[in-house]
Amino acid sequence: MIRVEEHDNVRPVCPHCNQPLDRLTRTPIQVTLGKAFAWSCPHCRKVLGVTHRKGFWMG
Ligand SMILES: [Zn+2]
Repeated sequence: MIRVEEHDNVRPVCPHCNQPLDRLTRTPIQVTLGKAFAWSCPHCRKVLGVTHRKGFWMG
């Protein structure tokens, strides 16, 4: 079991450029079903992750 700790004062760090992240760049991706976004570092613009919501019933 892994517990989640929330820290408002700890900034995530970009694994590519090692800059602390206080914001992310969100770029919409064209998909046929739902909405998808690429989340990238505002400093080096490398993609940190992609989220895809297929619909309101699937989260
Ligand atoms: Zn970066």
